[in-house]
Amino acid sequence: MAYQVPLLINGSMVQSQTQTWLEVTNPASQKLIARLPCATDDEVIEAVAAAKAAFAQWRRVSVPERARLMLRYQALLKERHDELAQLLSQDTGKTLEDAKGDVWRGIEVVEQAANVSSLTLGETQADVASGVDCYSFSQPLGVCLGITPFNFPAMIPLWMFPLAIACGNTFVLKPSEQDPLVPMELAKLFREAGAPDGLLNIVHGGAEVVDRLLTHDDIAAVSFVGSVAVGRHVYRTATDRLKRAQVFAGAKNHMVVMPDANKQQAINNLVGASVGAAGQRCMAISVGVLVGEAQAWIPDIKEALAKVQPGAWNDPEAGYGPLISQAAKTRVLGLIETGKQEGADCLLDGSQCSVSGHPNGNWVGPTLFAGVTPTMRIYTEEIFGPVLLLMTADTLNEAIALVNANPYGNGTSIFTASGAAARKYQMDIQVGQVGINVPIPVPLPFFSFTGWRGSFYGDLHAYGKQAVRFYTETKTVTARWFDDDVVAGPNLSIHLK
Ligand code: NAD
Repeated sequence: MAYQVPLLINGSMVQSQTQTWLEVTNPASQKLIARLPCATDDEVIEAVAAAKAAFAQWRRVSVPERARLMLRYQALLKERHDELAQLLSQDTGKTLEDAKGDVWRGIEVVEQAANVSSLTLGETQADVASGVDCYSFSQPLGVCLGITPFNFPAMIPLWMFPLAIACGNTFVLKPSEQDPLVPMELAKLFREAGAPDGLLNIVHGGAEVVDRLLTHDDIAAVSFVGSVAVGRHVYRTATDRLKRAQVFAGAKNHMVVMPDANKQQAINNLVGASVGAAGQRCMAISVGVLVGEAQAWIPDIKEALAKVQPGAWNDPEAGYGPLISQAAKTRVLGLIETGKQEGADCLLDGSQCSVSGHPNGNWVGPTLFAGVTPTMRIYTEEIFGPVLLLMTADTLNEAIALVNANPYGNGTSIFTASGAAARKYQMDIQVGQVGINVPIPVPLPFFSFTGWRGSFYGDLHAYGKQAVRFYTETKTVTARWFDDDVVAGPNLSIHLK
């Protein structure tokens, strides 16, 4: 019988009593890896209750003690880094190298969470009025909820619960139903690091479980990462219940290639950033905008892209792995077909891709379209597959206008040798994360992950100082200690003297 993924409630891994189970399959073979329960209503309620009960204790634990938990957790994650990466490869199909990156970028956030003592420092000012001092400090919110996507099963859960918990909250995580094994391992290691019962709880399921959690009165804040349609639903539902919410959604990321760029570096980076991880990254470059004479580089881009081939996670020659599911493959193939019908020029077609020894994998080969226009569906929709679109612009201004007219604003990059062009781009582009000769500019956790426009709903972003503000309330105290017994009459003014 296949492994049945447990729930984590109040410190115990428990088997769900549900009648509804989903199958977790290996995307390179379709073999059943595990059966995943859709938690019952009662189990969801138990998980939130456990987090609420744990909050009453945890909010009183000293800040350095919370930081020490993160230090122990970081050390354990580093020790088990390679094992976690292997498990992640098998569950998602990612190449081992890529899986290691997924785990590592999560560990970096745990390192940041260990800095909680300085991150949550308040402000103080003496003598704001005669004998009056004012100071502020941060306090946790209560039970926070995280809903995560399939494409980074280590990094994205680690964007959320370590910082939330370091700030004094407790947490309920609802990982993607497509690859839940790594989040469960992350939770086990968190317990091993000494996390008390109820600090982190995990329930599984799809839309129904998410909605039950979103509408639960005891959830104070919601962090979501996933697709646009679901993200909008989550944001609307959470904020309608007057909950704090941060929603990281889909994207369409452009790389602008100027004719003065180093040609080979620009092409290598464009190819790697578009089909790496089979294009299943929210920061993947899905559109190359070739400016002026760089338009003559299309044959070279095609040649470089054709050399990257997908393969199994442990094949060192594989450029990337399979798509996560058969449904994802069907969707991507449908969009490739649409591109052809819409009149885009399909220079490389990966629809018929196969990988020797893995006949049942969700393979899609590298695919290249030129002559793409802004109204085509392949441009207006996020493809989330190894498909690169090429567009052209005569000038940098035209390229900027094209990128700014796209509704998404997650990431972008410019490849150029000109400081003036790079600076203009960084100042005028309506996108939250900009790379200058860096194709996928995901910030390290002492900054924040700052998607804009249709790629983000909310005000405070993931990790860094913004996440600390998201997971805390600021309390401001104004204090006067009388140093004599003189009692004046009632003070009827708001003016502090
Ligand atoms: P998804 O929206 O299908 O799923 C995300 C989460 O929402 C999962 O936990 C899932 O169970 C839940 N969910 C699915 N349907 C739901 C519904 N109808 N109601 C409530 N909850 C529901 O996303 P995915 O396919 O797992 O992930 C890929 C998407 O995530 C892409 O669009 C990608 O761009 C985006 N993403 C964005 C970022 C970012 O930082 N902006 C990062 C990673 C991924």
